[in-house]
Amino acid sequence: MNAEIIAIGSELLTPFRQDTNSLFLTEQLNRLGVEVSFKTIVGDRRPDLINVARIALSRADVVIFMGGLGPTEDDLTRECVAETLGRPLKRHARIVEDLRARFAARGWKMAENNERQGDVIDGADALDNKRGSAPGQFLHIDDQYGHAIIVLLPGPPHELRGMFEEHVFERLKRLVPAQHIATRELKIGMIGESMVDKRAAPIYKAAQGVETTILAGTPGEVQLHLRAQASSFEEAQKRVDALATLLEDEFEDAIFATKGESMEQIVGYYLGMREKTLAVAESCTGGMLAARITSVPGSSRYFLGGAVVYENSVKTALAGVPPLLIAEHGAVSSQVAAALAEGIRNSCKSSFGIGITGVAGPAGGSDEKPVGLVFHALADGSHTEVIERTFPGDRDRIRHWATQQALDMVRRKLM
Ligand code: AMP
Ligand code: MG
Repeated sequence: MNAEIIAIGSELLTPFRQDTNSLFLTEQLNRLGVEVSFKTIVGDRRPDLINVARIALSRADVVIFMGGLGPTEDDLTRECVAETLGRPLKRHARIVEDLRARFAARGWKMAENNERQGDVIDGADALDNKRGSAPGQFLHIDDQYGHAIIVLLPGPPHELRGMFEEHVFERLKRLVPAQHIATRELKIGMIGESMVDKRAAPIYKAAQGVETTILAGTPGEVQLHLRAQASSFEEAQKRVDALATLLEDEFEDAIFATKGESMEQIVGYYLGMREKTLAVAESCTGGMLAARITSVPGSSRYFLGGAVVYENSVKTALAGVPPLLIAEHGAVSSQVAAALAEGIRNSCKSSFGIGITGVAGPAGGSDEKPVGLVFHALADGSHTEVIERTFPGDRDRIRHWATQQALDMVRRKLM
């Protein structure tokens, strides 16, 4: 079964308000085994709405309209869906009375236009709205559009969510043939998207009944989303797991997460498990690495701290880098990265020290040391490893790449 979600509201076609309701609905529909094939956004205009409703009913089994159920002139959903279906609206006296009572309870007199909210499409069930005034509607048709389930939901996100959970989920479950969707999310570190795609493509061919999507995440991260649908959850799970195993064989240790975890979570997980601690000395990343590490709850167990060592004298003062070393090799050098890692490890008394120094740009590059050049060092007390990379992109992407590379070094050391 497939669904179309229609978000109604002219504000959703401006840069100021986004259709977020459809994200929630997609998740819920997927839980029921219903694929979302289309999402449409339409303004509060009668001909457009009718047009969209017609198209949706001709191509989807479940059509969910949301928004435009209020009492004002621009709330047209009820009328337009009724017109599209060629069914009359019937005013439910009970709903109107309930609305009147709601207003009275606050000492207000209900304006006449509110009565429109009691209009229900002939044959539809009205869905009670505990959180607002506009009731929803649920309708199962079998007419010129064939079989279809039609749902009307209010636009305010908390009203929509509550109504869906209380009234719609169970109704749909009874009508939708049991289908189960299983998903997996693999994350691959430090390989470009096109290279990942090229290596994954032949493997996808071998896997049956699994849909795949490739997504470039933050710099240094590519995500592979796998998704299978079957009549039992076990079968769907079996299919995604089989493909995940093939991909794991291909990408081996470049895969850093198999359940959607972030790189900093994984590094934290390994440090915690091995009972090791970490300290960082960051130049061009200016604290971004420490920010990523400490974004993980519980990071105080393994992250001791560190320093932002931007200016040369601070590299010396806080990470003990000899001024001569900087004079001889330059601040952006493998020697200084190593000294940063070792120095911060010593001063923080951590198991591992990381040093990062590079040219984030846009200015400051040279032929010898171009923008994007970054040295990453990891010191463990007996050995210091340095990785030199030249990253593409703007300042922000280069800095993000650098933090990813540094985290990946810790991960590989501990896995
Ligand atoms: P309405 O039901 O059209 O009167 O919408 C009421 C409120 O809900 C307005 O503030 C809308 O901007 C908001 N809203 C409507 N549709 C959506 C949507 N699809 N996603 C997020 N907010 C919405
Ligand atoms: Mg509206």
